[in-house]
Amino acid sequence: MKNRIVLLGPPATGKGTQAALLSATFGIPAASTGAMLREEKARGSAAGIEAAKWTDRGMLFPDDLALRVVWQWIDGRNRFILDGFPRTKGQAETFDTGLKDRGLDLDVVYFLDLPEEVIRERMCSRLTCTRCSAVYNETFHKVTAETPCPACGSPLARRADDTHEALDSRMAQYREHTLPVVEHYRATGLLKTIDARPGRDAIFQTLYRDISGTELPANSQEVRAALEALA
Ligand SMILES: [Zn+2]
Repeated sequence: MKNRIVLLGPPATGKGTQAALLSATFGIPAASTGAMLREEKARGSAAGIEAAKWTDRGMLFPDDLALRVVWQWIDGRNRFILDGFPRTKGQAETFDTGLKDRGLDLDVVYFLDLPEEVIRERMCSRLTCTRCSAVYNETFHKVTAETPCPACGSPLARRADDTHEALDSRMAQYREHTLPVVEHYRATGLLKTIDARPGRDAIFQTLYRDISGTELPANSQEVRAALEALA
């Protein structure tokens, strides 16, 4: 059984969804640094207030702040799933040293890999309901910005960060910062690359098998409950 897991990957691979599914299925706490910081901000902690200064200006917060928040979240646990952290090679190196100091080891780093043209296609054809937040793909679901939401009838809209320009900058950031993290963990032997093209259920099946060492049961109660909770 793998208990200390990192999930890396470009936008639109469904990393967050997989983290939530794995967490619900195996009972392993999962979080992204964004979620940790929102929690800190809500509690009004020093780290939360400091992080807000950066994110309010649309900037990435510095490595040392990200690490501080991650350690606050990890300390006291020996099982965790980190969604999208470490985000830079500097964070990864400091994180590895911190784990060693605590006598913890990562069990695996999964890289959900998706070709850039697929990421672009997925993100630029995504429409979100303005009321119920359901997400649709123009091609798969045969909807347009003029179609009412199939679930609740409200207008659909493109999210501001789903435009070509916003995507270009996210992809540039990904290539500049995240790919070196992927290479770092490839060099340490922890990396496992997962093809993210087959979609949510197939990716989950692969991750389940690799984490637990057993096949995903066809009618697992836990998995069904986890999927329903996401819907
Ligand atoms: Zn809706």
